[in-house]
Amino acid sequence: MSCALTTATALAPARPPLHVALPPSQVDLAAAERAATDLLHALGIDTDTESLRETPRRMVKAYAELFRTEDFDLTTFPNDEQYDELVLVRDIPLRSVCEHHLLPFVGVAHVGYLPGDRILGLSKLARVVEMFARRPQVQERLTRQIADWLQAQLNPRGVGVVIEAEHLCMTMRGVRAGGTDTITSTLLGAFRHDPRSRAEFLALTTSAPSTSAGSRA
Ligand SMILES: [Zn+2]
Repeated sequence: MSCALTTATALAPARPPLHVALPPSQVDLAAAERAATDLLHALGIDTDTESLRETPRRMVKAYAELFRTEDFDLTTFPNDEQYDELVLVRDIPLRSVCEHHLLPFVGVAHVGYLPGDRILGLSKLARVVEMFARRPQVQERLTRQIADWLQAQLNPRGVGVVIEAEHLCMTMRGVRAGGTDTITSTLLGAFRHDPRSRAEFLALTTSAPSTSAGSRA
């Protein structure tokens, strides 16, 4: 990299962190509690026992917590050292809720990027995963949203996201395929177009898949 550019980067004023705040969600706890009571009654569950009396309130509280996100500051730094190899955080804990059944899916996310002019505080990758996970989701869309968001905010040379998750709607109902992981991936930029980068990223992130719903094309 040329001297001129390095000097310009060093002299550039510090960028203020991007404050990431989602629009406040409209939660009506009282209405949700009434609806939860109606739902349980309609399912033939008697809530008029000591143990179940508070269940509608607890259900509502639990879901409200699963869908709540906290604001955070996304601090990026100039890539002064011109580091151009893979940055990868593996096994980021993931918990989300399948929007088709409103049952949890849990697993891990592996998020990597090839830095361009800016690099990111590593813990922030987990915050980005959480931001998109804390809402009714499908795993394919969640994977894509994390990758697209990082691409837009960081403008790296490549972004890769792999999610491995177990869906309770699969393991507790329907086919009851216990222990089945669903793997999804989104690869952008060099991870998509450069075979060496792609192979390196996938070798470091994928274990033996059970079900693959990836978009690696
Ligand atoms: Zn489901």
